[in-house]
Amino acid sequence: MHSELPAAPGTTRMPDHRIAISERGSFAFATCSCGWYAPARRSRDLARREGAGHLAESGGGEID
Ligand SMILES: [Zn+2]
Repeated sequence: MHSELPAAPGTTRMPDHRIAISERGSFAFATCSCGWYAPARRSRDLARREGAGHLAESGGGEID
């Protein structure tokens, strides 16, 4: 069965904002493909939420 989301022609481009969570030691921080980044946090979950907040402010994107 093919259950992926339908991809209409012309709508398959990559999002402008793609969040990645990076970790350094016990800290984690969110970075975006647009150049935005969040301060290092002790909580990976908080870093992820900050990344989600950036996406919301920017009009959409994805988190890796
Ligand atoms: Zn961004």
